[in-house]
Amino acid sequence: MRNNRIKNIILTIDYEVFFGEKAGTVDSCMIRPTKLLSDLLTKYQSKMTVFWDILHYWKLIELAPRHPELTEDLLKIETQVSEMVKAGHDIQLHIHPHWLDTSYDQGKWNFDLTGYRLHSLSPSVEPENIRSITGCITICKNLIESVCRKSNPDHKVIAFRAGGYCIQPFSSLEKPLAGNGIFIDSSVCYGFRFDHGHHSYDFTSIPDKTEYRFQAEVESEDPRGNFIELPIGSMKASPFQVLWWAFLLRTKYKDLGSFGEDMTIENTMRTDEDYPRLSFLSKLISTFWEPRFIMLTPDNFFREKFDYLVKSAKDGAVMILHPKYLNEHTLGLLEKHLGTGRISFSSLNEKYKNNG
Ligand SMILES: [Zn+2]
Repeated sequence: MRNNRIKNIILTIDYEVFFGEKAGTVDSCMIRPTKLLSDLLTKYQSKMTVFWDILHYWKLIELAPRHPELTEDLLKIETQVSEMVKAGHDIQLHIHPHWLDTSYDQGKWNFDLTGYRLHSLSPSVEPENIRSITGCITICKNLIESVCRKSNPDHKVIAFRAGGYCIQPFSSLEKPLAGNGIFIDSSVCYGFRFDHGHHSYDFTSIPDKTEYRFQAEVESEDPRGNFIELPIGSMKASPFQVLWWAFLLRTKYKDLGSFGEDMTIENTMRTDEDYPRLSFLSKLISTFWEPRFIMLTPDNFFREKFDYLVKSAKDGAVMILHPKYLNEHTLGLLEKHLGTGRISFSSLNEKYKNNG
């Protein structure tokens, strides 16, 4: 007998623009793709958790008085967030601290990525100083709640995702998060490792689970810990699968693009700091020498690869999605799986609303 049970996936999206040479517009990276996704979820009575890049919004508030076009962006985001809250989606905390040092000139963002990690801020306990870790988390959390509570007075920030997955060492963030009532993290992804100057993480030794408790170190399970980790889902792929997918990407799917400025996959990889720059040869070598993990996401994926992911995903796994990478093809894949009843999506809040 085949198991026909619906697989539940926790859908989390990172609601943000790009951070490379081309940041993309609020309309194309956030508003339009998120609206398409949100409409799709409504059609299938599904919910999602939105990890809102809140320092972007904070920066818009700071600069809006001098730049009318940013006021428009600000209002569009506020309206969309309030619509999502009313639709029952769950808005949670995502922080990219480099916005603090980002300037805006002639319609263009100039990113300074030296402060990419929260850990680059002051460790002193200053809840009103945004340049301290405690202050940044406190101010960002309060800002999200002040916007969301206009539509739902009970809205609570309980979950966090670090910008660029830079959650380590967790001990620096432990008290600031706990002090703000945040007890869920979803910043790690089993098997993944990245080392790119100020942007680095190592998740090769975390527990391979859909959920575990921890305290001072996100890498070590602690059944008595106060924090719950919900890792972004990942799975191993064989070198042959990886090569087959690389072939399909270069042939059948080379023109997929994305709603975020209609960038091609190659372009987004070149301009988005989330991706390392590897030569073809080093990619080929690493394919055969290192265990290859793929993230549970439709971002930059295509039918054959996404079908494999959905089939292999564990029940209750977390999926990550960036609206800026969505395109007609990936949106269609989500609709196909929702429509055939193979998966259902839910939010973190639905899972933990009685907790904490
Ligand atoms: Zn992000």
